[in-house]
Amino acid sequence: MIKECEVLVVGAGPAGSAAALTSAEGGVSTLLIDRKKEIGTPVQCGEVVGEPLLRHLNFKVPPAAVASVQNYTRFLLDRRIAISNKEPYWRSVSLERKIFDKLLAARAAEAGAQVHADARLVSVEMKDGDVVEAKIMHQGREVTVRPKIIVAADGVHSTLSRLMGVELFTEKAMAKGIEYEMVAHRKLPSAMQIFLEPEVGLGYGWIIPKGPRRANVGLAAIGLTGNRRDRLQEWLSTNPLVMRYFEADHVLEVKTGDAPIPGFLGGPRRGNVLFAGDAAGQTLAFVGEGIMPSYICGQGAGAVAAAAVRFNDVDRLDCYEQAVDDLMGDELAGGGALKDIILDVWTDQNISEGDRTVLCGLLMSEVIFPEQIEEARELLSLSNYKMVQAIKDIVARRKIRATVSALRLR
Ligand SMILES: Cc1cc2nc3c(=O)[nH]c(=O)nc-3n(C[C@H](O)[C@H](O)[C@H](O)COP(=O)(O)OP(=O)(O)OC[C@H]3O[C@@H](n4cnc5c(N)ncnc54)[C@H](O)[C@@H]3O)c2cc1C
Repeated sequence: MIKECEVLVVGAGPAGSAAALTSAEGGVSTLLIDRKKEIGTPVQCGEVVGEPLLRHLNFKVPPAAVASVQNYTRFLLDRRIAISNKEPYWRSVSLERKIFDKLLAARAAEAGAQVHADARLVSVEMKDGDVVEAKIMHQGREVTVRPKIIVAADGVHSTLSRLMGVELFTEKAMAKGIEYEMVAHRKLPSAMQIFLEPEVGLGYGWIIPKGPRRANVGLAAIGLTGNRRDRLQEWLSTNPLVMRYFEADHVLEVKTGDAPIPGFLGGPRRGNVLFAGDAAGQTLAFVGEGIMPSYICGQGAGAVAAAAVRFNDVDRLDCYEQAVDDLMGDELAGGGALKDIILDVWTDQNISEGDRTVLCGLLMSEVIFPEQIEEARELLSLSNYKMVQAIKDIVARRKIRATVSALRLR
């Protein structure tokens, strides 16, 4: 049975479970709800985390929640250039999110939070900009709670923002994604592979290993049109590199979802509600990469909420923005800057779509910094062979541990 609480956390993804954990650890009564019947299922994610970011977890992820570890990241630009970045930042860990998310919710419960699956926030009552009452459908029955603080960790299509009338993400600020978990017919390299090419659009495709011959293979793009499954099917059956490993009829699971691009239109606090994770656009790459940022910012939201309850002072919620800045400010600002410049490049009509994906890939792979974009534009007039040589020179000059090679896939 759902009991009254001081802090209500809506959504048991990484942001919500982290918020409920720190709120409960802060000694206030905390309720974590999720509309899903089973927390963590269905998965709507590529499930990969950069290894350095994973160190922000203050516990060791059990082996059952780790699918595989990748030594480097390979960027495939317009089917013309391959860059394998072997810097430590580009090592990655693929998770089993079904296990990982449930584990995070269990940790919140162990810290003393009430945790309820099959519990959907359906309506709120507002007074002077605060949410004073929330109605939850729990196992077919309506329950009313009157929390002092709410953490909205309910994802990119946040119910709370809709109920409060807060504008979150427009279609232009959201990527639509789809992937299959697939079995490869040959061994995969120990690399996350990211594809930037016109065939994908304003976003990227990926092969994210989940074992030597198993992987999430998918794409996400802003403004993706048409049926998502058809788009993926087409990409799988026309990209020569993907075809080298996969046949479209070895599909273990279909996963679809939307991802915000970095940034939040409204600010992460509204009255007595703190927005966290995808609901606050706390993601890093220009699309996607939100598991760890959501977890880390969720921790901040829970801690600030607990302090505000303990001191009986809602204005303490203002500390949340500073907390997010302290925890992830540099990374989020970097993600925002990358997003802005990629959107600029993408709308530049003076360069071909293929060249745009090359420039975006140089930025994303961190071979060039945003301030070097003008210099990088000059590479576009070179032949492919000369462009590869020039990129090799940049890599050598910057002493990046990366290899660059020409692809002949067009
Ligand atoms: C196709 C795709 C691939 C991605 N791949 C990656 C990747 O490889 N690596 C990475 O780091 N990130 C990836 N992301 C992003 C990542 O999935 C999200 O950033 C992350 O899950 C955000 O966590 P969250 O806790 O904020 O929200 P979510 O994980 O979305 O959790 C929100 C929760 O709120 C619940 N909820 C919603 N409404 C209600 C309601 N009314 N009442 C109760 N509960 C509610 C939902 O059921 C859900 O469980 C991907 C996203 C997509 C779409």
